[in-house]
Amino acid sequence: MTMRPNSIEARDVASVLHPYTNAAAHRAEGPMVIAKGDGIYVFDTDGNRYIEGLGGLFCASLGFSEERLVEAATRQLRTLPFYHTFGGKANEPGVELAERLLALAPVPMSKVFFANSGSEANDTAMKLVWYYHNAIGKPKKKKIISRQRAYHGVTIASASLTGLPNNHRDFDLPIAGVLHTDCPGFYRYGLPGETEEAFATRCAESLEQLIVCEGPDTVGAFFAEPLMASGGCIVPPPTYYEKIQAVLRRYDILLIADEVICGFGRLGTMFGSDSFGLEPDMMSMAKQLSAGYQPISALMINEKVYNAVVKESAEIGTFGHGFTYSGHPVACAVALETLKIYEERDIVGHVRSVMPRFQSRLSALGDHPLVGEARGRGLIGTLELVRDKASKEPFDAALGIAAHAGKRAQVHGVITRALGDTVNLCPPLAITEAEIDDLFDCITRALDDTHEWIGGRISA
Ligand code: PMP
Repeated sequence: MTMRPNSIEARDVASVLHPYTNAAAHRAEGPMVIAKGDGIYVFDTDGNRYIEGLGGLFCASLGFSEERLVEAATRQLRTLPFYHTFGGKANEPGVELAERLLALAPVPMSKVFFANSGSEANDTAMKLVWYYHNAIGKPKKKKIISRQRAYHGVTIASASLTGLPNNHRDFDLPIAGVLHTDCPGFYRYGLPGETEEAFATRCAESLEQLIVCEGPDTVGAFFAEPLMASGGCIVPPPTYYEKIQAVLRRYDILLIADEVICGFGRLGTMFGSDSFGLEPDMMSMAKQLSAGYQPISALMINEKVYNAVVKESAEIGTFGHGFTYSGHPVACAVALETLKIYEERDIVGHVRSVMPRFQSRLSALGDHPLVGEARGRGLIGTLELVRDKASKEPFDAALGIAAHAGKRAQVHGVITRALGDTVNLCPPLAITEAEIDDLFDCITRALDDTHEWIGGRISA
């Protein structure tokens, strides 16, 4: 791409380091500049319209033009544009938001801690695991188990929990004390002839072996996204969480559910924990909490964890953790309005009514010659592309097959995201059945183009 001097593209290349972007390629190709949004669509600066097939980054649940959220932010900006919550200060939107979240929790929760991103919520959870075990007199019980292909964020602690090589390589991560157990993806990790339930049993046995091998008195917590999203939409097999939670209970290990993507209706239930029967001690949430309109995250903690904080505060002093913008009144007001909209429009009911269409269009693509598996739940799904459907042999990574499919999708009017060999879909929750059809029509064309492209490449 030739960039005009002083164009926004050229200025971007000259000034911005982009997250999750190939810096070398970006220097040559430049950015795609998004100018505005309307409903489930965004528009680039040339006026081209795209369905946001990933809800921005799994967060724009109500699309890109929800006036009520604009008004909620403006109202709050005029009243109290900022205040902090340190030293016992409170603001009304923060209190009301916490009350609403506690009322939605799938299991009894005691308090809500606010932060600004999913990573910060997970960092907070990790620090609370340590703090809790110090408070209850088990200072050795500090190791944390996460899973391969998990995604929990990019700060030093949360990137350590993340189980993807690209987040560790060259960053000198993970930090000591964070361990990764098996990914529950049956398609890739199930053995030939193994049933899904037997695979679930094997995952739980493997977790138990790890705990026993490390020493149960040294393992403090297990982190899990109910359905792993960024690792390639890994839907856990039936009975998986039942078996995993039995192991955790046996060794008195805390469970932290990372609801950053599953939370607020994505799977057709309020939380992913509702879908899979998780009974967490802490739950992190972000993204759809504010429909993406403000940066805000929350960590819910149960009474047992809260009591430990009270005990430590009484004995050693103030709880030494918090962000300048924890409980930011504007972010809280927008999140509160988001939750009101979810309730008034019965967003979970809406997802339930359109998700059969989404899932049937998704699974129909399982027959496409490039697709090894089409999998998903609710309004999230993945197409895993393979060279050979029978053997599941992947394409040579250097081909960037899914990235190519993503580029073709963009040409056909859909923004999606390639992660490894997967093409991922996670549209705004407010999407209609007709829009779901448009989305999949575009994706089908993109796959056909990619098939043609790869055919040429193989024979060349
Ligand atoms: N947890 C999960 C499950 C996520 O998907 C993400 C972000 N995609 C995070 C945590 C990190 O959130 P953030 O990017 O807001 O730090």
